[in-house]
Amino acid sequence: MLKKLIQSIRSPLRLKRTVRTTPEIVGSNQHSLRREQFSRNAVNVVERLQRAGYQAYIVGGGVRDQLLGIAPKDFDVATSATPEQVRAEFRNARVIGRRFKLVHVHFGREIIEVATFRANHPQEEGDGDSNQASRNEAGRILRDNVYGTLEDDAQRRDFTINALYFDVSDERILDYAHGVHDIRNRLVRLIGDPEQRYLEDPVRMLRAARFAAKLDFEIEKHSAAPIRKLAPMLREIPSARLFDEVLKLFLSGRGERTFELLVEYELFAPLFPASAKALARDPEYAGKLIRQALANTDERIRQGKPVTPAFLFAALLWPALPARVAHHQDRGVPPIPAMQEAAHELISEQCQRTAVPKRFTIPIREIWDMQERLPRRQGKRADLLLENPRFRAGYDFLLLRESAGEETGGLGDWWTDYQDASDGERRGMIRGLASSQEDGAAPRKRRRGGSRKRRPRTGEGAGNE
Ligand code: ATP
Ligand code: MG
Repeated sequence: MLKKLIQSIRSPLRLKRTVRTTPEIVGSNQHSLRREQFSRNAVNVVERLQRAGYQAYIVGGGVRDQLLGIAPKDFDVATSATPEQVRAEFRNARVIGRRFKLVHVHFGREIIEVATFRANHPQEEGDGDSNQASRNEAGRILRDNVYGTLEDDAQRRDFTINALYFDVSDERILDYAHGVHDIRNRLVRLIGDPEQRYLEDPVRMLRAARFAAKLDFEIEKHSAAPIRKLAPMLREIPSARLFDEVLKLFLSGRGERTFELLVEYELFAPLFPASAKALARDPEYAGKLIRQALANTDERIRQGKPVTPAFLFAALLWPALPARVAHHQDRGVPPIPAMQEAAHELISEQCQRTAVPKRFTIPIREIWDMQERLPRRQGKRADLLLENPRFRAGYDFLLLRESAGEETGGLGDWWTDYQDASDGERRGMIRGLASSQEDGAAPRKRRRGGSRKRRPRTGEGAGNE
């Protein structure tokens, strides 16, 4: 498919990197995208808008991914209709957003996101109507609701590969920014001057890393060059938006690769400052733990299993915990309260960067608390722990820690055995603990033959809900 597309487009020797006012038109005989491949709902939305006299196209990931043979996550529509006009066409539509107003058209679980063509901004605040558009002193866009033409819209999009417009009526692709060329060369390239585009919206740096990981593309060198210098600007982005972005970065199925790119481009530290410090202090252990957590998450997504941000955040922040605990213990706080205090601090600090909602911070704490409780198995404790709804997540987390090289005295194996054991065997295992000195928490010899086969991960854990 891509080959066909590629063969049919001649590569101009020197591409002018400005956005064209007339698009390259890629006819339906030059590519293999067919309207049947697109979500029916997206096609219906486009046709409805066209019938009402507006221009409308499918744009963004829905076009880009399908050209690459990847199933798109969702479908975005661009139109000349204003949000209010769009809403008037559909019963099931809601206008959302303030910084960037758009319309969500709901079809059961599917949402088609409809955005009105936008123009680039006046450079200075006050140049235009500041109700529609505004920037701060650094040039960051605070509001982005100046509508424009299709040509304007192509120009204000982030990457060339995201500015391909598919016309469902004639199956043509309108390419204003040499996006097809960059798809062919597997390049993530910003439209326009990279530094200015990152200053307008620093989240584009995260998007560059995300698309490079997802599509297995390179970030084109001019687009890559300013990232390290501008990465600290992410600190100015509202924490709620960054939380959403972090989920897209790590829960899209290419989390491990995305993490590598974030570290390479120094984008990880502004998102997870404490974790980045821990990573610098002990790259071997912290890197292994985080990578393994992301690899497990990627694998679960590949298998269609559910994943939850709580497990992931628990893992991302865990390497930062010991230094905090030690700090409190040095001030004379006993171990358990020191751990509680450190956990609380760490999560509150993280929420200032990425606003983690309470429904996730609570399970993060529970997963961590479990790590304190899993070694204490005397009497009825082990059975009570097994009944705890967080047991599976806690156990999976324990295995994760062990896989990163944490020494737990074979605790993971013990719990693996315990879950499989009969009642009688369980009583024996608990008695066995009584004879060991510290409630079985002291390091014990690994059984011969090395590490045991783990229980298959089902139900709770490894990042599921
Ligand atoms: P995916 O849905 O797979 O994450 P996508 O490219 O569709 O990828 P969306 O976040 O759905 O990304 O956005 C849809 C389109 O809107 C993008 O393709 C891009 O053209 C434009 N866009 C999104 N965010 C920005 C941004 N911060 N700056 C400029 N354009 C953007
Ligand atoms: Mg999309």
